Amino acid sequence: MLTGQQLIGNSESADSSETFHAINPANSETLTTAYHEGTEAEVDRALTLAEKAANEMRGYSAEKLARLCEKIAERLEANKEALLECCGAETGYPDPRLNGEFGRTVGQMRQFAAIAREGRWLDARIDHAEPDRAPLPKPDVRCAKVPIGPVVVFGASNFPLALSCAGGDTASALAAGCPVVVKGHPSHPGTCEIAARAVLEAVKECEFPEGTFSLIQGTTNEIGGAMVKHPATKAVGFTGSLRGGRALFDLAAARPNPIPVYAEMGSFNPQYIMPEKLAADPVAFAEALFGSVTLGNGQFCTNPGLVFVPEGADADAFLAKYRELVEAAEPAPLLNKGIQSGYAKGLENLEAHGIEVLRGKASAEGCKTAPALAVMTLTDFEKYRETVEEEIFGPSTVVITCPSCDVYAPIARDFPGQLASSVHAVGDDLDECQGLVDALSTYAGRICFNGFPTGIEICHAMHHGGIYPAATDSHFTSIGLSAISRWGRPVSYQDTPDHLLPDALKEGNPLGIVRLVDGKTA
Ligand code: NAP
Repeated sequence: MLTGQQLIGNSESADSSETFHAINPANSETLTTAYHEGTEAEVDRALTLAEKAANEMRGYSAEKLARLCEKIAERLEANKEALLECCGAETGYPDPRLNGEFGRTVGQMRQFAAIAREGRWLDARIDHAEPDRAPLPKPDVRCAKVPIGPVVVFGASNFPLALSCAGGDTASALAAGCPVVVKGHPSHPGTCEIAARAVLEAVKECEFPEGTFSLIQGTTNEIGGAMVKHPATKAVGFTGSLRGGRALFDLAAARPNPIPVYAEMGSFNPQYIMPEKLAADPVAFAEALFGSVTLGNGQFCTNPGLVFVPEGADADAFLAKYRELVEAAEPAPLLNKGIQSGYAKGLENLEAHGIEVLRGKASAEGCKTAPALAVMTLTDFEKYRETVEEEIFGPSTVVITCPSCDVYAPIARDFPGQLASSVHAVGDDLDECQGLVDALSTYAGRICFNGFPTGIEICHAMHHGGIYPAATDSHFTSIGLSAISRWGRPVSYQDTPDHLLPDALKEGNPLGIVRLVDGKTA
């Protein structure tokens, strides 16, 4: 079924004879399909088609967009077995993880269908005219979002389904009426191809124009760069590393006509533990933290990478248990050699400062890697803060023992942007947390209480962002249902005849959506 070719609208293409293969990270086996490197000519074809499709899709009803998303969910379900088998071989993820992520992927497709139908995201506002107003008449002004145009999507390696080819960025952009061109992640090209074929089947069945969706594969940064620089591209959705996100953001800013890059990047998600919480059950706390740090073998952007604890006997008991868990853990595969060597380098950087790092059992098989624990004093943290604040992507965490929790808020106020951060507090300690919560709100996209941030609920109120470098635009989220608002551009229509207005703004409200009319929700 896999051809390894670029899927551009209705056709397949292999301009380049240069190919690459996926590698199973569990055993280093090179998988059989050869994937062709994308070329700039193919990027041009995909985006030129997307531009044409955008013009047609601009007039599509919310219902038609919603049906496309639902059909994609159906087609993904019809291809579930092949998709999960391929994804397992390309990522080394176990079945429960694959099934969970698949459920999230089809679930969010349907959730975005509902968001398209409901129409609130269009942010429709109407201010009626007052022709008799003195000294000047007031015009009729109406505003709603219109689709921004072709969106280029880059997925991360660690969510090969939910944040990749048919993931959240693709779902939200299509639901908003924007064509999508995906740059496939070279760690899971087969998963991308199967997901892309499912999307393309749905595009045909729902009679959307050719160019509504395309997939370009490749291992070079140039091909992704060409997609960002293409004149037809109107916005970029990116999930991945700070290095990658920043490079693409800079490329977009350097275009003659800069475009927005909504990049969600790495994070170390600080955790602040108050004394009563730690005292309640230091062993259970160690187990819960270990479970979160090692979830998906630590390859979560919401991994708790920095943990502040009050020093003392409870901290000692917590650390003793955590060390035991690290020593007993079996190594598990990281996604690729690059992530494996980045993880090793991150831990070595800490050791270079004399910071104690405990590693679990080693393995020479594939990309298998053990969890690790680094422990340091507050004095060392302050000395080596710059190094410690670099994300170590993998199953490790750094614990900082502090003489008092009073240092938490001042430390927090100096942190760079983070996707999430947690306070662990119970009893009277909760009364001491206001300053800390205020400090966290200066950098984090999400603040959790008595829980680790690794699981992300896809809901209306979820914000997955934060100030730079967690995200390039802290006003928007990449996960959660308001992610759709990235793909709409507000346009005001002044004194425009009713039949020429978008449906969202027509006087009779044919879509039946919630709107702000003369300052009141209607
Ligand atoms: P990555 O190396 O940045 O790759 C992501 C995608 O961007 C790939 O398709 C990659 O293609 C492309 N890319 C990277 N640098 C590029 C450049 N300079 N020019 C053009 N294209 C470029 O990320 P990853 O290793 O797959 O994912 C792990 C990282 O993602 C971690 O830091 C993790 O914390 C973060 N992450 C963030 C979130 C979030 O929601 N914020 C979610 C999951 C993961 P090439 O391989 O061809 O370069």
